[in-house]
Amino acid sequence: MKLDLNRILDRGDGAEVVKADVDLRFVHYRGVSPFQEPVLLTAEARNRVGVVTLDCTYQYTLHLSCDRCLTPFSKQVTLHAAHTVVRSLSSESSDDDDYLVAPDGIVDLDEVATNDVLPELPGKFLCREDCKGLCPVCGCNLNEGSCGCERREADPRLAILDQFFEN
Ligand SMILES: [Zn+2]
Ligand SMILES: [Zn+2]
Repeated sequence: MKLDLNRILDRGDGAEVVKADVDLRFVHYRGVSPFQEPVLLTAEARNRVGVVTLDCTYQYTLHLSCDRCLTPFSKQVTLHAAHTVVRSLSSESSDDDDYLVAPDGIVDLDEVATNDVLPELPGKFLCREDCKGLCPVCGCNLNEGSCGCERREADPRLAILDQFFEN
């Protein structure tokens, strides 16, 4: 969806609130499609003495599977991102990601949403902080109980390797 900000850019004041559904179902991330429903975007454009800001609030559900036990789970997320909208970057503007450059005064909300939401995907998905994962012997989910398999105590040298692979 395109948002025409010319009216707001040209006036010295004024505000406009727009709601949009952004479809991010095309996104595949680490083997899953985290966005199965549209992302709800509320964008508020405001001109304060000539500086136009676009405050975006995103509400969505991430559908993920746990890195340790592989169980699918979902997570509600609310994310805020603030941008300053300019027609061109002046030389003194810092080279900041928060600037949205819109030479024709039109902002593509799908693009803004993609750039705001995707970098916020978590690097690590755990169904809960203390997820016990799967038994390395029989593969059962250790969160649901102990399987009784003989599991060797972690060798400290291997534990260092584990840390290495987790990071
Ligand atoms: Zn888990
Ligand atoms: Zn087991």
